[in-house]
Amino acid sequence: MEYDVIIIGCGVTGAATAYMLSRYQLKVAVLEAENDVAVGTSKANSAIIHAGYDPVPGTLMARLNVEGNRMVGEIADKLNVPFSRCGSFVVAFSEAEVEHLHRLYDRGIQNGVPEMYLLNREETLKEEPNLSDQVCGALYAKTAAVVSPWELTLAMAEVAVKNGVELFLDTRVEAIQKENDLFKVTAANGKNYQSRYIINAAGVDSDVVHEMIGEKEFTVNPTKGEYYLLDKSEGNRVRHVIFQCPNELGKGVLVGPTVHGNLIVGPNAEPGTGRDDRATTGKAMDFVRAAALRSVPSISFRENIRNFAGVRANTEFDEFLIGESKSVKGFLNLAGIKSPGLTASPAIGKYACELLNEMGLSLIEKENYDETREVVRVRYLDAEKKNALIQKSPLYGRVICRCETITEGEIVDALHEVIPARSIAGVKRRCNAGMGRCQGGFCSPRVAAIIARELGIDETDVLEDRTGSYVLTGKMKEGLENV
Ligand SMILES: Cc1cc2nc3c(=O)[nH]c(=O)nc-3n(C[C@H](O)[C@H](O)[C@H](O)COP(=O)(O)OP(=O)(O)OC[C@H]3O[C@@H](n4cnc5c(N)ncnc54)[C@H](O)[C@@H]3O)c2cc1C
Repeated sequence: MEYDVIIIGCGVTGAATAYMLSRYQLKVAVLEAENDVAVGTSKANSAIIHAGYDPVPGTLMARLNVEGNRMVGEIADKLNVPFSRCGSFVVAFSEAEVEHLHRLYDRGIQNGVPEMYLLNREETLKEEPNLSDQVCGALYAKTAAVVSPWELTLAMAEVAVKNGVELFLDTRVEAIQKENDLFKVTAANGKNYQSRYIINAAGVDSDVVHEMIGEKEFTVNPTKGEYYLLDKSEGNRVRHVIFQCPNELGKGVLVGPTVHGNLIVGPNAEPGTGRDDRATTGKAMDFVRAAALRSVPSISFRENIRNFAGVRANTEFDEFLIGESKSVKGFLNLAGIKSPGLTASPAIGKYACELLNEMGLSLIEKENYDETREVVRVRYLDAEKKNALIQKSPLYGRVICRCETITEGEIVDALHEVIPARSIAGVKRRCNAGMGRCQGGFCSPRVAAIIARELGIDETDVLEDRTGSYVLTGKMKEGLENV
C-alpha cells in the first residue's frame, strides 16, 4: 500500500492535518493505534478554544492559537460541531495579579487577539455574580469559546475520509524504515505501508515515533490533568470560562460551561505521569475542588457526575515542535502539541500542508471536494421537524438515553457513519447517549443491544471503549433474552 503521505495518529492534530490534506490530489493514509479517532488527549481536555493571550509573542504557538481560534469557529459552523463563543475571564485576587492581567492583555495585543477588555471588580461581578467577592478584576476575552473536542476531531476526520483519505484503526505503528526515498511503515497488526512523506501526530508518543527512525530531538514529559464534570443543574453557575492567573505549570484550575450544558472544573498539573495514565486520584480531586472554590465558592460538588484525566504532551520546549526532522528528510513532526493544541489544530493542519509543500510535495486542489457533514440531533428539532423525521423512520421516536433525550435513530446513525462507532463510548462520543446524569447507568445495556444488532455481533463481543474492553462475560442464565 503506497501513499504520498502517511499520518501517524488520529487525535485532533492528525485529523486536522488529514482534513486539510484531503482537499488536494494526494493519496493519504492515517494510521491510528486505537479503535476510534479522538481517544488520546483529544478526548480528555478542558475543551476551550483559547483566545490567544497566553503564548509568548512571536512563537509559533501564539500565531497558530490566534489563527486556530478563528478557524475552529468556522469549521464548527460548517461541519455541525457543537461550539459556543462564550468568552473567558482570567480573574485576579490581588493587586499583583491585576498587574499580571495587564501583562496578559499586552501579550494578547501583540499576538493579535481581538476584543479583549480589562474589567474592574464591579464590572467583573456584574457579569459573573457567582464569583468570589475576593475578586479584584478580570481580563475578559470575548473570542474564547468552548467546543466538543471529540466531535471536532471526528468531523474533520470524517470529511477527510469522505474525500478519499484512508483511515486504518487498530493500527499501531511499530517500526519505520526508509529505502530509496520511500518510508516503510510496519504496524503491530503485521500490515505494511509505504509513503513519500510521514507526519508524526502521535501526541504523547510523538518522541517514541520520531525515534523509530530519527535521532533524539525532544522528550515528552507526560503531565496529567484531572477534572470534575458536574451535572447540568450546575451548568449555569458561570456564563464564561473562568481562569485563575496562570503559573509555570499551566493555565491553572478553570471553571466553565461545556457545550453540552454541564460545568467542567479542573485541571491540576502532575508532571512525570505515565503516558497512558488516565486514573483520577483523591489527592488531585481535593486540590482541584479547593482551587475552583476560590474562584466560584457556590459550586455544588454533590452534582459531580464524572471524573476524568487527560495527559499533556509537554516537552523541554515551551513551544509546539513543528518541522521536518533534523535527521530524516521527508519526516514532519507535529509534536509537543500541548495546550492550546485543540484550539490551534486546524491552523497546525494548514501549516503542515505548507511545510510539506516546501519539502517538495505538490498540492493540486481537487475539483469535487465535499466539505459537508449532516448530523441529526432530534432533541433540538421543533415538533414539526421531529414528526416528519419520525414518519420517515420511527427509530427517531424511540428515546433510549433518557437523560440526554437521545433516540435509537441517532444511535443507529452513529453506528453507520463515515467513521462508525464500534463501542458504547464511541456511540456516546458521536450522539451523547450515556453522557447525562446517570452516565449510561440506564441506557448502556440498551445501547449494547443495539450495537450487537447493528454490527451483527454477539452482545458478549460489545466493547465499552478500547479494544479488549468487553462489558459482558457471558449469560448467567439461559432464557432471559426477552426480559
Ligand atoms: C488536561 C489538559 C487540558 C487541555 N485543555 C486544552 C484546552 O482547553 N484547549 C486547547 O486548545 N488545548 C487543550 N489541551 C491540549 C489539547 O488537548 C492537545 O493539544 C491535543 O488534544 C493534542 O492532540 P494530538 O492529536 O496531538 O494528540 P492525541 O489526541 O493524543 O492523539 C495522538 C494519537 O496518536 C495515536 N498514536 C500514538 N502512538 C501511535 C503509534 N505508534 N501508531 C499509531 N497511532 C499512534 C494515539 O492513539 C492518539 O490517538 C489540553 C490538554 C490536556 C491534557
